[in-house]
Amino acid sequence: SYRKGGYHAVRVGDSFNDGRYTAQRKLGWGQFSTVWLAYDKPNSQYVALKIQKSAPQFAQAAMHEIEVLSAIAKGDPTHSKCVAQLIDHFKHSGPNGQHLCMVLEFLGDSLLRLIRYNRHSRLDLNKVREICKCVLIGLDYLHRELKIIHTDLKPENILLISPIDPSKDPVKSGKSPILERPEGGSLNGGATMTIIEKKLKNRAKRAVARISSRRASMGGGVEILGQNPKPKRSLEGIDMRCKVVDFGNACWVDKPFMEEIQTRQYRAPEVILHAGYNTSADMWSFACTAFELATGEMLFAPKDGDGFSEDEDHLALMMELLGKMPKKMANGGAKSRDYFDRYGDLKRIKRLKYWSLDRLLVEKFEFSEKDAQEFADFLRPILDFAPEKRPTAQQCLKHPWLNQNLTP
Ligand code: ADP
Ligand code: MG
Repeated sequence: SYRKGGYHAVRVGDSFNDGRYTAQRKLGWGQFSTVWLAYDKPNSQYVALKIQKSAPQFAQAAMHEIEVLSAIAKGDPTHSKCVAQLIDHFKHSGPNGQHLCMVLEFLGDSLLRLIRYNRHSRLDLNKVREICKCVLIGLDYLHRELKIIHTDLKPENILLISPIDPSKDPVKSGKSPILERPEGGSLNGGATMTIIEKKLKNRAKRAVARISSRRASMGGGVEILGQNPKPKRSLEGIDMRCKVVDFGNACWVDKPFMEEIQTRQYRAPEVILHAGYNTSADMWSFACTAFELATGEMLFAPKDGDGFSEDEDHLALMMELLGKMPKKMANGGAKSRDYFDRYGDLKRIKRLKYWSLDRLLVEKFEFSEKDAQEFADFLRPILDFAPEKRPTAQQCLKHPWLNQNLTP
């Protein structure tokens, strides 16, 4: 992709925007961009420099992202709304063309990294609570004040403010201002890949034992959780504040530009059914993310199978956990007829094995009854099939679960 129209090749020490920024080390990359740690000389601070591919469609996408990020920054002068701040943007000409560049505040590891670091085991509920609060503050700001839908909320797109392991801090571990190792690789959980690549990778790497009667018995699920060969790592003292990033796919409520949004496992039922969406689709992804943090495993990891598609498996998994979808909803989307009969039953997956969220938390993830009940009480309303019935981020922030301190 380092050719005309593609990525801009960066070397450590390269300077940008008339010498204001000096490239230090690569932080990550996405389908449209590479992201570098850079030193901002006039302000004596480290920043994340996102350099977009140069072809017109990428430039257009970057312009959209800059527009969204500018609105976000404008409404948050005190930087307290838990969303990444745009500091600057400019054009940079290179051998592959002209690249739009965004300068963002430099953040730490993603929640995906945190989940992996924690070896997909349960995260302390007090930490989950802290993270949920930050994400909800970010969503409340986006939804209520700006009328923006993120459309791709997931652990990868939520970054901690400080690194998980301070010895791996790309700033502190190097000899600033110019660090060695030009191709330092991804420090933040790596590439944001194309949707297809992502799907394949996620499916291969993170598919877990599930509750579906079609593949695993309940007992099977419990057993698989029990065998965690590596010891837990300490996350003591880590400040669990975080910010929402990656507004490449964000849209305004009144201008949705794509029918299919969200990464598969975090996709809301109305999106699968092509029944339209609004900010409540982000709330669904939020609940999936919160569950994954608390348990270490994805809430829904659908797979296609003999005689049914990934979408149908996804809908079946949702109904096994949340009960039958209301007929009005099941039949309300452009794709409803492909999947549901007129009684609101799935056409190709007949036998569902129902299991409630609090039972799942107790029986598979070994939560105490009290923890399970309280956490399920927080999550369950957000996972309402009917988008208009889901609580808003503002309402969630008032939930007792977020405002108590669980004893460890
Ligand atoms: P794309 O839109 O091309 O997918 P992202 O905005 O998702 O790009 O950024 C790609 C990667 O760069 C992220 O997954 C993360 O690892 C890293 N990254 C992005 N923004 C920041 C930031 N502000 N601070 C630190 N790392 C970042
Ligand atoms: Mg991305």
